[in-house]
Amino acid sequence: MLIDAAHRKDTRIRENVEKVELYLSLGSNQGDREHNIEIALSLLNIELKTPYKAVSSLLETEPWGFESQDKFLNAAVLYELFLPKGYNPEAEGLMILEICKDIERRLGRTGRPQYNERGERIYTSRPIDIDILLFGDNKIDCEELTVPHKLMYQRDFVMTPLREILTESARSKYDNKN
Ligand code: ADP
Ligand code: MG
Repeated sequence: MLIDAAHRKDTRIRENVEKVELYLSLGSNQGDREHNIEIALSLLNIELKTPYKAVSSLLETEPWGFESQDKFLNAAVLYELFLPKGYNPEAEGLMILEICKDIERRLGRTGRPQYNERGERIYTSRPIDIDILLFGDNKIDCEELTVPHKLMYQRDFVMTPLREILTESARSKYDNKN
């Protein structure tokens, strides 16, 4: 239940609202990559009901986990969300994941994640990938969603843009690895 700017001004609502930092990573290696990232950011602003607080520069990287000539552009973005005090992290996290997946589909990403016979992910080119890196200090571990993102510390293409935008308090908690 995301609270938009108009409602945040209402004092009764303000007292019962908590500010939560959401960090997302964006990646594109198909089509007009920069344009895909721009469109994804404007759709996120609409769906998350607030303009982003900070966005990293774009980083060009080699595909990770598969072979392709098509390099990625990667970025990280920070949103300050306003959620009701005592919100359910898993439910809100899944709702944010749905927003991300919906935007991926709207930008032309098709198909479900593929796995090989050993149960490992098969990675492929995509117009846009949006992953949830951090959602406040919440730890979520359910079938569809793991937060903090399971592989972020192994991926420089995630951590380099993320480090550009981590706030001081998030830096002390989440930039202590690697
Ligand atoms: P990847 O991002 O690793 O390239 P996908 O975007 O295809 O792969 O995601 C595969 C699945 O990972 C998604 O269907 C989603 O349910 C799951 N998932 C688990 N944790 C996260 C997270 N933190 N952010 C985004 N997706 C996640
Ligand atoms: Mg993804």
